[in-house]
Amino acid sequence: MNTLVTTPPLLPDVARLRPRQQMGIDCAVCGHPLGPSGRVLGEVRYRGLPFRLWVCTAGCEPPSASGA
Ligand SMILES: [Zn+2]
Repeated sequence: MNTLVTTPPLLPDVARLRPRQQMGIDCAVCGHPLGPSGRVLGEVRYRGLPFRLWVCTAGCEPPSASGA
């Protein structure tokens, strides 16, 4: 029972995020600029530093993959 939980599985990998997403400027999930809104998805630890990940308040819009 030696569980060292560092990153909950539901959180995105900080190493894969862009700096703007790591700093909470852009959504950590979809990369949309958050502006004054946004909600905290969770906190993760990366390279010994805590990162607070932010996501869209009203949920992320899926990328429009449908052909225009
Ligand atoms: Zn989003």
